[in-house]
Amino acid sequence: GEDRETGEEFGLTPTMAHSKALLVLENFIGGKFVPCSSYIDSYNPSTGDVYCRVPDSGKEEVEAAVKAAKDAFPIWSSKSPLERSQILNKLADLIEHDLEAFAQAESKDQGKTITFARTVDIPRAVHNFRFFASSILHHVTECTEMPTMGCVHYTSRAPVGVAGLISPWNLPLYLLTWKIAPAIACGNTVVAKPSEMTSVTAWMMCKLLEKAGVPPGVVNVVFGTGAKAGEALVCHPDVPLISFTGSTLTAQRITEKSAPHCKRLSLELGGKNPAIIFDDADLSQCIPTTVRSSFANQVPPTPVTQKPHWQQAGRVPEGLCACLHLPLDLNPKLSRSISRLCLRKLLRGKQNNKRLFFLLSIRRYQGKKLLLIPTAQGEICLCTSRIFVQRGIYSEFLKRFVEEAKKWKTGNPSDPTINVGALISKEHLEKVRNYVKKAQAEGARVLCGEGVDPLALPPGNQKGYFMLPTVIAEVKDESCCMQEEIFGPVTCVVAFDTEEEVIKRANGVKYGLAATVWSSNVGRVHRVAHKLQSGLVWTNCWLVRDLNLPFGGMKASGIGREGAKDSYEFFTEVKTITIKH
Ligand code: NAD
Repeated sequence: GEDRETGEEFGLTPTMAHSKALLVLENFIGGKFVPCSSYIDSYNPSTGDVYCRVPDSGKEEVEAAVKAAKDAFPIWSSKSPLERSQILNKLADLIEHDLEAFAQAESKDQGKTITFARTVDIPRAVHNFRFFASSILHHVTECTEMPTMGCVHYTSRAPVGVAGLISPWNLPLYLLTWKIAPAIACGNTVVAKPSEMTSVTAWMMCKLLEKAGVPPGVVNVVFGTGAKAGEALVCHPDVPLISFTGSTLTAQRITEKSAPHCKRLSLELGGKNPAIIFDDADLSQCIPTTVRSSFANQVPPTPVTQKPHWQQAGRVPEGLCACLHLPLDLNPKLSRSISRLCLRKLLRGKQNNKRLFFLLSIRRYQGKKLLLIPTAQGEICLCTSRIFVQRGIYSEFLKRFVEEAKKWKTGNPSDPTINVGALISKEHLEKVRNYVKKAQAEGARVLCGEGVDPLALPPGNQKGYFMLPTVIAEVKDESCCMQEEIFGPVTCVVAFDTEEEVIKRANGVKYGLAATVWSSNVGRVHRVAHKLQSGLVWTNCWLVRDLNLPFGGMKASGIGREGAKDSYEFFTEVKTITIKH
């Protein structure tokens, strides 16, 4: 059934996603699409054209959505975890069925490459529902006994109520569903507000809720800006918890606004992530991975949703992730052998403890070669943006790193051979470029990318917000490029001498989200990992994740963690009950 056209119900078939048709979105409240009195434009970053019109919701719309969520809470929260789990699984199936339409829309709305949307964003959104559908069935309550007092204590957990969910533009459906799935799996009802710049896939998801069996009012989505819709949600007295992913600045405002209500907050924020490369690192692994971690996010951190090809291959091992996309017209025998070949490659990587995770987007070339394409544009909170290299290997590293970065092709995101798509907006592109200019003004050297290779920019795409992967060297630690989150395809490379020195410098920023350490000295990687102020530390790899484990940052990178147990704890209220017998 793979060759069917999908997404017709959205008025957004894969072909239409490329058409000039203007989409007009509506809020989804109480199970119905509701028009709004005013709208804002949202742009296609790769052309600069208006892609869709998004409701400019405010207090009134948020009020209606919260009321619908509140009304739906008693029935939804009294369903068994198994019933909720079945509905989540059904929703996952429906999104997966329309994966191509979702991917096309995400790529057009966000500027990310179609390869990335197909192989990371949408599969992960599907997986989020499946993951929490499964994990909700496996939580156990604690129980202790005090025989001398004739007592038994146990804990019980209950959903909290209406959850306010606010998400950013970089991984639109991926991050929104990472919040919706655990919230509703635990029995809460939700009012979600996606970024006003990337709302289309959330609207498409709403179209599938009824068919999945999600009762009206359980999931409500209001579209609009942070200042109006977002703040109305944060300030609403009937929303006791807010799960937010976005910038540190916005989080400060949310914290302030929710303080009078003592709301429960989960804050997943920005980063200024270091990679530390010691002189005993295996550069053949380290350089390509660090280029990817600087300019992309090509590795899904989960055993992602199984596409039919993988099901045929039949043996995707636990903890190994890959998402394989083959041309729909490929004959089944050939696609099976390609699946097996890729699986063997992945397994070899696993056995060597190298290349454990890498996302493969595979196209059949003329001559039946396979092409592996890393994709994205550095707009990921986990991207590396400060690379510390031990002095003995600094020159060699820099030379090879720049050579590798130059291989990355920037251009039209709908072209599957492209690695770097468009940045989200004109303003963001300007902001990222300004960081490079400031670094140059401070005496740093720009080795490739912005301002160096203008001819490498895509011809005929002048209206889009494109930028080449940019490497800056000899930057001072106190420079804004080394201190602030740039959130674009820009990375700084500097030299260090000793372990003690590099730990101090890596910790010398306000953020603490993700760090990477490269060394073949086992003692050293443990030592350094323990001393880094970072919620996540990867050694000799990057972005290998198990969704069961806590995800989140320290310092200005966030409060709280997300994951199977962590999200469960956040989205439920615990009670300790004592029985005297
Ligand atoms: P942002 O903070 O500008 O916006 C995020 C969301 O908050 C949007 O939906 C926006 O409309 C809303 N918002 C803005 N002002 C608000 C307010 N006053 N009240 C309520 N809501 C408000 O962030 P962004 O530019 O969309 O996203 C980029 C940021 O997100 C980066 O800093 C990045 O590091 C971070 N991020 C973090 C993670 C993580 O897991 N730690 C993941 C992805 C992105």
